[in-house]
Amino acid sequence: MTTATAETLFVTELFASIQGESTRAGMPCGFVRLAGCNLRCHWCDTPHAFEGGREMLLSQVLDTVAQWRLPLVQVTGGEPLLQPGCVPLVEALLAAGHTTLVETNGTLPITALPENCIRIIDVKCPGSGMSERMHWPNIQALTTRDEVKFVLTDRADYDHALAMIKQHNILSTGAAILFSPVADMLDPQQLAKWMVADSAPARLQLQLHKIIWPADMRGV
Ligand code: SF4
Repeated sequence: MTTATAETLFVTELFASIQGESTRAGMPCGFVRLAGCNLRCHWCDTPHAFEGGREMLLSQVLDTVAQWRLPLVQVTGGEPLLQPGCVPLVEALLAAGHTTLVETNGTLPITALPENCIRIIDVKCPGSGMSERMHWPNIQALTTRDEVKFVLTDRADYDHALAMIKQHNILSTGAAILFSPVADMLDPQQLAKWMVADSAPARLQLQLHKIIWPADMRGV
């Protein structure tokens, strides 16, 4: 990867699909997956986004997105905030009238993002091996538009998620809280039982795209 600028982006994938995660799961959505990540989660399902990517002008990305004619667009990664072109991209998508989701791994400040996008923070639990990397001040920047997603591998991750919700007062932000079991690691039925038993202040989320299409299929 050569140096990215505000006018250029390194893009792993551009595709139109069904939104598979978040409170908007099930809606048609365009995806801009930016290349590069500063983490290496044990269960990562997008290692192809770790590096490389196709160098594109911001205008080329916007042209592709416009062709989809989809109101909803998600910027994701990798970790999108690593690229200086991420914020200009989000601003341009908003200016074009898109409801714009930005999924971030929560290690970098989200305050540079425009307030009218929807920030989705993936909180890293111990099972990821990356839980010490979280930038917790991000939580207090969240609003009722935003979302916090805990990806869970086991009971220890689940207990950690409940503890972090309490410790960082996440409920006070009004952001939606999602618990997502890692496929083939945590049985959704088991997670559902724990959540009901504890009246967990979160909603269970399954990765819809992995139910609709083969779990390892890219570009969906
Ligand atoms: S932050 Fe996302 S892309 Fe990066 S290693 Fe973790 S799961 Fe993979």
